[in-house]
Amino acid sequence: MNDRSDETDGSDAENARDDGTNGVHIETAAIHAGQEPDGATGALMTPIYANSTYEQDGPGDHRGYEYSRTGNPTRTDLEANLAALEGGAFGRAFSSGMGSINTVLNLLEAGDHVVTGDDVYGGTHRIFTQVYEEYDLSFDFVDTTDHGAVRDAVRDDTALVWVETPTNPLMRVNDIGALADIAHEHGALCAVDNTFATPYLQRPLERGADIVSHSLTKYLGGHSDVVGGALVTDDAELDERLGFYQNSVGATPSPFDCFLVLRGTKTLPVRMDRHCENASELARWLEGHDAVDRVYYPGLESHPQHDLAADQMDGFGGMLSFEVDGTLSQASDVVSNTEVFTLAESLGGVESLIEQPAAMTHAAIPREERVAAGLSDGLVRVSVGVEHVDDMKADLDAAFDDAL
Ligand SMILES: *Cc1c(COP(=O)(O)O)cnc(C)c1O
Repeated sequence: MNDRSDETDGSDAENARDDGTNGVHIETAAIHAGQEPDGATGALMTPIYANSTYEQDGPGDHRGYEYSRTGNPTRTDLEANLAALEGGAFGRAFSSGMGSINTVLNLLEAGDHVVTGDDVYGGTHRIFTQVYEEYDLSFDFVDTTDHGAVRDAVRDDTALVWVETPTNPLMRVNDIGALADIAHEHGALCAVDNTFATPYLQRPLERGADIVSHSLTKYLGGHSDVVGGALVTDDAELDERLGFYQNSVGATPSPFDCFLVLRGTKTLPVRMDRHCENASELARWLEGHDAVDRVYYPGLESHPQHDLAADQMDGFGGMLSFEVDGTLSQASDVVSNTEVFTLAESLGGVESLIEQPAAMTHAAIPREERVAAGLSDGLVRVSVGVEHVDDMKADLDAAFDDAL
C-alpha cells in the first residue's frame, strides 16, 4: 500500500509521471503499482477498508483520511494502480463508468459545446442529450474518423472533444493524437474513453489526451462481477477539479468494489494477450466463413483503419462484430443458440458474450437510421473471452447451422 499519510501530496503520482509506470513494464505495474505489503501486518493484498470515518488525533489532525467518500485506503491503492497503468500521474475511481463520464461533464459550464463521435457508447449519448442538454450544454455528433468533419464541428465555445476508440459495435478506430490536436487548437479538452482498448493496448495520455475515462466494469475488472469507473490525468489542476466533483457529487466506489478491480488489474496483461489472440484467430476464421458477410475487427487488413490501429494500439483487442448472411430473426436465432458464448450485453470479462445490436444494445435507434449508420439486421457483436478458441468456432458453427 501507499504511505497513507502522503495521500494528498501526490508523491507516488509524481514518480509515475516521470517515468511512465514507475520505470517498470506494465505487467509489473499491474501487480505492484499502488500496492505495498501492509506496514502493520505484512499482508500482501490491499485490505478492504470497510470503514466510513477515521479517528483524528486532534481536530483536523488526521492521518490522511477523514471520511470515506472523500478518501478510502482501498480506493487510494486502486487509483494509484490505474494511474500507473495509463502512465498518468493522477487516478480517480467512481462507482460506474457513467459516474466517471458525469464527472468530466461537471468540468463544463452552461453554454459550453462538446464534439463527439456519432457512434459513441449509448449511455454516453444518453447523458449528453437527455441530462446535460437540460443544463444548457450542446453536443455535436460527427464521424470522428473524418477530421474535416471534426474541424467543421469545433467552435470557439467548444470545451470538450470526447473520443472513443475502438468504437461500438463497428470497431472504428479514431486517431487520438489528431483529435487531441484539433481540440487543443480551440482551447478545448480532449477526453478519451479507453474502455475497449485498456491501457495494456493503448495509452491516450501519451498521444496528447488530457483525460482518460474507463468503465472498470469491463476489462479492468475483467470478471463480470463489479461495476466501476475511473479517470486518469497528468494535469494536477485538472485532477484537483475532478477530485472536487468526485467528493461533491459522491459517485464513489465501495472499498469492496475497489478490491475487486485491484484483483482484476493484476491479470490484465495476461488476460488481454489471450483476448487478443482469440479474437484475432476468430476474426480470420469468420472472415472465411460462408455464413458471414463481413467482419469488423481492427486486426484484419480489411479494416478501414487497420494501419492506424497497428500504430496506435499494442494489440487489436477482444471485441469484434460480424454480419451474418440472414434476416433480423435469423441473427436472433444465431445469438440465442450459442453455448460457449452467453447471450448478454456488456463485455470484457473472461467469458465470451454474444449480442445482437439491432435487437439489444442499439434497439432504441429507429431501423432506417440504424441501417444507415451501418448497423445491419444481421450484425452480431461478440466479446471474445479467454476460453479455447476451437470451442468458440465449434459453438458458432453449430449456431449458424441451426439458424441459417
Ligand atoms: C460500459 C461502458 C461505459 C459505461 O460504463 P458503466 O460501468 O456501465 O457505467 C462507458 N463507455 C463504454 C465504452 C462502455 O463500454
